[in-house]
Amino acid sequence: MGNHDVVVAGAGIWGCTLARRFAEAGKRTLVLEKRPVVGGNVRCETDAETGIEIHSYGSHIFHTHIPEVWEFVNRFVKFNGYQHKVLADWKGKLYYLPLGLALVNKFFGTELKPCELAGFMADEERSKAVFDAFFRGYTSKQWGRAPEDIDPSIIKRVPVRSNYDVNYFNDYWQGIPADGYNSLFERLLDHPLIEVRCSSPFELAPGTDSLERPVYYSGPIDALFGYVFGHLPWRTLRFETEKLDMRDYQGTSVVNYTDAAVPYTRIHEFKHYHPENAAVMNYGKTVIMREYSAEWKPGDEPYYPVDNASSRELLERYRALAAKVSNLNIGGRLGGYRYYDMDKSIEAALAVAI
Ligand code: UDP
Repeated sequence: MGNHDVVVAGAGIWGCTLARRFAEAGKRTLVLEKRPVVGGNVRCETDAETGIEIHSYGSHIFHTHIPEVWEFVNRFVKFNGYQHKVLADWKGKLYYLPLGLALVNKFFGTELKPCELAGFMADEERSKAVFDAFFRGYTSKQWGRAPEDIDPSIIKRVPVRSNYDVNYFNDYWQGIPADGYNSLFERLLDHPLIEVRCSSPFELAPGTDSLERPVYYSGPIDALFGYVFGHLPWRTLRFETEKLDMRDYQGTSVVNYTDAAVPYTRIHEFKHYHPENAAVMNYGKTVIMREYSAEWKPGDEPYYPVDNASSRELLERYRALAAKVSNLNIGGRLGGYRYYDMDKSIEAALAVAI
């Protein structure tokens, strides 16, 4: 690994943020990436004909309330001001998803005011009907488990509001990089002290107890140790992408299909992430992507950690193993086995002592 001071293994958002920080601190930084391209699961691909930015690993919307994170990313890219809204399809009818007045009034055919909502929803049957329609089926497809068997923090990601605000996130800042996500990674890594090697997986020989230089690894922690204790439970995704001969398919970027009878969880329509791009918006074709969720098995890409008592125990065993290897540091969504949003990955990378 030559004359480098530090190795960053994994060029996702955590790794690229760290690499930039090391380089700016004067450290010669080697970035090793297993895939042929950088960007991790935020990687996008632009469809040559339509100019549509396809989020190859599913929709990524940047949102944060952390000033340091917003300031950091804005050094590298400009955001387009996109505000995320999610519609839910329940038995052929569409509802704006935050649990709020728009959803409840449409679902029950009511005209409730904010001050009446809590009293109305205190009725157990009503709240069960809403939960069963919008959460039970989607969660069982997404996690392969009943909502009772997943950590409650997962479902609490969906906002609950007593007004007509249908923004999907509560965060103050959000948007999509105007020049695309790939430009964020290119610019983060564009520094004279950073060397990037793609198609270069980082491997730890069995029995290694010390690394010559500090390594910051963000691949799956169980994979790093050859799954010696068995694999952690992960969810994987499968996508079906289609280019359609129409200007607009669904009128919005994401529609969730909350009925368990529909095999996919959601349909993404990527052109809607760039409403500022008139040429893309008006072009007579669109690209949609159906998303399917499944239990991870060896050979699949891991996307979501499955957080429960047994996975936490297994994770602790892997962490104990990692702690025995001097100079090894592990983080990011896969390394940390954390359901991080992009901003949380950056926050964690900004907190690493350089
Ligand atoms: N969820 C749901 N119905 C929905 C949207 C979300 O039941 O229509 C639940 C589901 O368990 C999901 C979790 O809330 O995994 C978090 O949703 P989020 O949209 O944050 O998921 P992500 O976009 O990260 O996959």
